[in-house]
Amino acid sequence: MRYVLVGGGVAAAATAAALRRRGFDGEIVLVSDEPEAPYERPPLSKDVLTGGDIVPARKPEWYAGNGVELRLSTRATAVDVAARSVRLADGDDLRYDALVLATGMRPRGLPGFDGDRIHYLRTAADARALRAELTGAERVVVLGAGFVGCEVAASAIGLGKQVTIFEPEATPLARVLGVKIGAAVLDIHRARGVEVRTGEYAVTCTRTGDGLVLDSNLGHRAEADLVLVGVGALPNVELADEAGIATGNGILVDEYGRTSAPDVWALGDVAAQQHHGRRVRVEHHDNALRQGQTIAANLTGEEKPHTDPHWFWSDHYEHKLQSVGHASDLDDLVLRGSVEEGSFSAFSLTDGRLDGVISLGRPGDVLAVRRALHTPHAVTVDELRDESLPLKQLLSR
Ligand SMILES: Cc1cc2nc3c(=O)[nH]c(=O)nc-3n(C[C@H](O)[C@H](O)[C@H](O)COP(=O)(O)OP(=O)(O)OC[C@H]3O[C@@H](n4cnc5c(N)ncnc54)[C@H](O)[C@@H]3O)c2cc1C
Repeated sequence: MRYVLVGGGVAAAATAAALRRRGFDGEIVLVSDEPEAPYERPPLSKDVLTGGDIVPARKPEWYAGNGVELRLSTRATAVDVAARSVRLADGDDLRYDALVLATGMRPRGLPGFDGDRIHYLRTAADARALRAELTGAERVVVLGAGFVGCEVAASAIGLGKQVTIFEPEATPLARVLGVKIGAAVLDIHRARGVEVRTGEYAVTCTRTGDGLVLDSNLGHRAEADLVLVGVGALPNVELADEAGIATGNGILVDEYGRTSAPDVWALGDVAAQQHHGRRVRVEHHDNALRQGQTIAANLTGEEKPHTDPHWFWSDHYEHKLQSVGHASDLDDLVLRGSVEEGSFSAFSLTDGRLDGVISLGRPGDVLAVRRALHTPHAVTVDELRDESLPLKQLLSR
């Protein structure tokens, strides 16, 4: 019996580990086009830029010790679902009994913004190149105030750089967390000295003798020693798509992780999953890990839907932003705490039940909501707003 995992991220590594934990004793082959064994991507925009090391998903010796064959620097180029085999770039065909696609995402390119001093960030190699250039840079321009852009800005400020962010929306993170939370994030970055230019985007980038000059849609100009483009990422669906596996905004999977092809599964950032009746594609670390556990369970005889509420975190200087669940309406969140003081939770409530929370600096609230999402509870807007009522008690009545 051979299970082939395509992908060098935490999703593939978590699947391999959970398969072994559950006693699967067949062959596991993990194919990645990166030279490193799977590692954690979250530190790439944080500690790795300020001097930390790459963090492996598992210790290097774990793979050999657990009989997981690593095929690194090797791209999977085609899948034949009828023959149940994967073609690798080195010409090998790997027959599989189950195929797990965890191909993740790649940064969205911005036309006209590439070449020397212009960086994108997804891989360890990208982070090393960015760090090397960041050291000697003074002026850093970040295009896009999404998670990656904001975190790189925070790291660059930590290194004493002068940082400008161009963000076409009204606030950072507006599309994913709404403008209320975005405004809080905007204040945090401005307070730390980042020049955040909202409603503005760079249209051209010109090379000068000692750097880059960017011109914006509003006619402003910014000079940079380096530019980080953080304008989103695209799911790597091509391998599945060309094999005739159903794709859309990601590889389509049911609640168990199955694709439209027999014995082909998908997870992590690339998978558009059925989750509590909705189709979602989640671009966060914890989801990739947990889906790996679900798929391993299903590959070892269980019938386990993936129902965990999605949780993520993002670091902005000393502030930790966290979210769990799904906010049904980002414009209608119930606030507890103070946006101005950078300590609040914003709850999403439907008919007295919480759907999720987005929190800044309040990890206890996130934990309480995470528990409550699995249990019956009833709470009102006024109770949620009232700080004198402990949240844990409110949600366990
Ligand atoms: C800079 C950065 C910071 C982040 N910070 C946070 C954070 O603070 N909190 C959070 O929750 N999440 C964060 N994330 C998101 C998190 O890292 C992802 O959700 C997670 O990496 C998803 O794991 P994955 O295994 O699904 O995909 P990926 O990590 O993208 O891994 C996919 C792997 O598959 C390989 N691959 C693709 N196609 C092929 C092929 N055809 N053949 C062989 N190999 C292939 C890729 O090279 C890659 O190694 C961050 C991401 C980045 C980039």
